[in-house]
Amino acid sequence: MIKLTKRQEEILNIVKTNGPITGKQIAEQLSLTRAALRSDLAILTMAGNLDARPRVGYFLNDDQVQQERAKKLVQQKVADYKAHPIVIQKSACVYDAIVQLFLEDVGTLYAVDSNGCLAGVVSRKDLLRTTIGKRSLYDLPVSVIMTRMPNIIMIEPNQTLYEAAKIMIENHIDSLPVVKKLDAKTHTYLVIGRITKTTITRVYIEMYSES
Ligand code: ADP
Repeated sequence: MIKLTKRQEEILNIVKTNGPITGKQIAEQLSLTRAALRSDLAILTMAGNLDARPRVGYFLNDDQVQQERAKKLVQQKVADYKAHPIVIQKSACVYDAIVQLFLEDVGTLYAVDSNGCLAGVVSRKDLLRTTIGKRSLYDLPVSVIMTRMPNIIMIEPNQTLYEAAKIMIENHIDSLPVVKKLDAKTHTYLVIGRITKTTITRVYIEMYSES
């Protein structure tokens, strides 16, 4: 990959937003003559950043379009895609958790304490495991079967979807609570959203479906 000059970057940005665009129009936008741009356009075309077609003009090379999309995908913030968190009181019984899981059509519930702070995570498998045990689903509180603090893996709104995806894959989990830190020392966090593997897949599809 060659390092582009500032002017070449400017040309690429113009083509990215306005392409296909003629050399004359690019020159006008940069207040330069067509001749002054000739070498930059030749370099960008030879390097594979741009493609040109007679009577159509310059447009982004398809590989470049894919790279731009991938770059955009990686930069998306958790804050812009987080879904509403589905929470349950940690004192609620396992039966109620199962009902809520079905009603809300989710795979994971976030258990909160009486102050509304994140206390644990209860997933499909946690609930299934309980149903094959001998204990009464009506008497057993969620707090007994959940994965609890400080072992909860979380994400913050200013982190990227790429980071969220990597964390979920590395930890073999399907969802991450999006949290606002109240006090890290005492592990007090407010749950303000959720990111799931489905969130990531949906964004991927949306971005690659853009024309
Ligand atoms: P499933 O039970 O449907 O396979 P997961 O793969 O997400 O769902 O959960 C696997 C295990 O990891 C469960 O015991 C669950 O409590 C735990 N878990 C899920 N999400 C988290 C998380 N964000 N932090 C810590 N543990 C989690």
